[in-house]
Amino acid sequence: MFSGIVSLAVAKEVAATQLEAQKIADGHYTSGASYTFTYDISSRGKIAGDLEEFRKIVAETYADARGWKRAGVTMKEVQSGGQAHVILASGDQVAAASPGCSAKLSCRVGSLILINDDRWMHATDAYNELNVSLANYRIMVINHETGHFLGHDHILKCEIPNGLGPVMIQQSTGLLGCRPNPWPMPSELWVRR
Ligand SMILES: [Zn+2]
Repeated sequence: MFSGIVSLAVAKEVAATQLEAQKIADGHYTSGASYTFTYDISSRGKIAGDLEEFRKIVAETYADARGWKRAGVTMKEVQSGGQAHVILASGDQVAAASPGCSAKLSCRVGSLILINDDRWMHATDAYNELNVSLANYRIMVINHETGHFLGHDHILKCEIPNGLGPVMIQQSTGLLGCRPNPWPMPSELWVRR
């Protein structure tokens, strides 16, 4: 019986090692490694937001030490032809980009990081009800959609109730019991490209 328990523990250990190896094979890497991508800024459709302000806030968010930079990511703005296209887009243009996108929300489609102009200007009920500033919402939505570009899927539950929400929770539609947080959590500091 004793050896049974030991071998179960060993089996778990092996499984964890294999998982780690698989993660590395899949291209996950964490803080300490480095990855640089170029991006350009543009708009689509009729927008109410100021594109120059948008450009500035995206650049500040990407340069912030609390952001994806902590995962070793450097983002460099270029005039055009970036690896990612960060776009302030009208709702109809977001919806037109892919059947998986909604006119009400922001969306990432391949290299397109589409920020919904209506959300950019007015955030969401979930955020406004909690009196979170529009400035914080904007940082959250940039980091969330960029997180998809970096290989992150949604996080579907709040691990620590009333704790800070991972940026990959779909905070625009609900906090799932977590508190709003515009920056990636330590557990989210990896990239899969
Ligand atoms: Zn998302």
